[in-house]
Amino acid sequence: MTSSEGSALSALQIASHGKDRYPTPKAQAEKLVIEAAELLGAIAEHANSRTHQRNHSLADCPLVRGELADVGLCLYALGNKVQIDPITAMRELVDRDQRRFA
Ligand SMILES: [Zn+2]
Repeated sequence: MTSSEGSALSALQIASHGKDRYPTPKAQAEKLVIEAAELLGAIAEHANSRTHQRNHSLADCPLVRGELADVGLCLYALGNKVQIDPITAMRELVDRDQRRFA
């Protein structure tokens, strides 16, 4: 278990549900892919909707905010299951990433 806020929020959400519906790393990873697709759909819906664009920015889009939160919670739930803190893993990757794009 990690101490990050995302990890704690994900654990809190699952506890409040009363049941972990995606109890294995594989099931959680599959759910993460589905949530990422839903985020893409929300961004596309905002981009294709004059009503959305008239009423709010992308950053304030309720659909996009909700799906982004779902993706984050799902990522942290997966991190908890595989005992990897996503922030620590991202830091490790960024620190050793030597690629440059021209
Ligand atoms: Zn919107």
